[in-house]
Amino acid sequence: MCGVFGVWAPGEDVAKLTYFGLYALQHRGQESAGIAVSNGRQILVYKDMGLVSQVFDESTLESLKGHVAIGHSRYSTTGASTWHNAQPTFHPTVDGSIALAHNGNLINTGDLAKMVDDLGEFEGQLELHVKLPSVSTNDTSVVTSLLAHHAGQTVEDRAVELLPRVHGAYSFVFMDENTLYAARDPQGIRPLVLGRLDRGWVVASEDAALATIGASVVREIEPGELIVINEDGLRSRHFAPSVVKSCVFEYVYLARPDATVGGRNVHEARVEMGRRLAREFPVDADLVMPVPESGTPAATGYAEESGIPFGQGFVKNSYVGRTFIQPSQTLRQLGIRLKLNALEHMIRGRRIVVVDDSIVRGNTQRAQVRMLREAGATEVHVRISSPPVKWPCFYGIDFATRAELIANGLDIEEIRSSIGADSLGYISLEGMIESTGQPTGSLCAACFTGDYPIPLPDESQLGKHLLETSLRTDTLPVFNNP
Ligand code: SF4
Repeated sequence: MCGVFGVWAPGEDVAKLTYFGLYALQHRGQESAGIAVSNGRQILVYKDMGLVSQVFDESTLESLKGHVAIGHSRYSTTGASTWHNAQPTFHPTVDGSIALAHNGNLINTGDLAKMVDDLGEFEGQLELHVKLPSVSTNDTSVVTSLLAHHAGQTVEDRAVELLPRVHGAYSFVFMDENTLYAARDPQGIRPLVLGRLDRGWVVASEDAALATIGASVVREIEPGELIVINEDGLRSRHFAPSVVKSCVFEYVYLARPDATVGGRNVHEARVEMGRRLAREFPVDADLVMPVPESGTPAATGYAEESGIPFGQGFVKNSYVGRTFIQPSQTLRQLGIRLKLNALEHMIRGRRIVVVDDSIVRGNTQRAQVRMLREAGATEVHVRISSPPVKWPCFYGIDFATRAELIANGLDIEEIRSSIGADSLGYISLEGMIESTGQPTGSLCAACFTGDYPIPLPDESQLGKHLLETSLRTDTLPVFNNP
């Protein structure tokens, strides 16, 4: 996950545009937020732990003046959820500095970190700067360090040389003092769109962020494409051939329903998933209700197709983050209780179909079924608009380890029994994929199938705390100095 945003717009308040853009992308990451701004002479970075609205206030934004900015809202996948790992990352270069924001997750972070080590002459540059006692331990900082090493090259040429060696999922937005850059991995795992302002250009994880700031959508940035924007205009370069494998989970859960991904409106895709689910797993019931908010479009589709009335049976506290985004199990369990309340007058004495987008560990659904029974439901039928999640994601979603995934050890009847439902139905893989309207073979569905489109390295290269557990953390020439 993570939300990334970038704007190049002389004469505009780029920090505020970035703030509102990040606000629209808050659902993609809620652990920390940051904005980097350049006035043409220097880059300033302000970042902190928390939601976008907690990190920034009017006076902070007022202090961030310039014509180019990038922003980030973080959901951690490599590197702990700490201030040092908040983004944008920042790094000095021989002739200035760069800042970078990343949505995705890399799978050769260890190799890239070794490349940083091998840059012997790099240490000479670092002597010019104060080294902070703590270092970042995220995959993003390693790429920032490598990009910063561009002696004798432009940042653009360095990016074109480096990006083919970066493996995994990345939608990068980065900047130097005068130029905005955006790049998407050759598989296009995570989304990234280009937009136009009257007086500039914008890039963002989702087009909803463009609408928020009044920018028009130009197009999606292509897999394997680098975009460069400065006073000379916009240039596009392809740094690697594309083999499109976009994340199907963006359609199921991750993206906002008002986003368009791969030319398909996400809300429409979710409604279609609900319709197909109703055909694949019909049931006699009195009420179809969603798990708000992400289950709502699929529940409307299920109700439409089945003819069973649709209604709200849960009230959601919108100010509590998505449960699986929160980094610890303890917080996750607390989140379940904080998040939902059952509407007893809608539920008592009724046979309920409750529609959700996915089951990861099963804790959430078990709590919800219990809540519905306590509110008086006579039957609870659970319908899920994605197939069983059996495999971890290494491309930017910190679902769980394989052992924690309920569908890894249990079959569907055992999962039904474990969550306490009267029946359980998951949409088929084909049904989910067809609902997205994407060409066959152009989606990653590895968390359902185990078929990873970017070959995984051995386990020693993977893991959220790769750079924290290795001996490298005290030697990495990486620092974030806002
Ligand atoms: S493994 Fe699943 S969540 Fe991860 S990129 Fe592929 S489809 Fe998306």
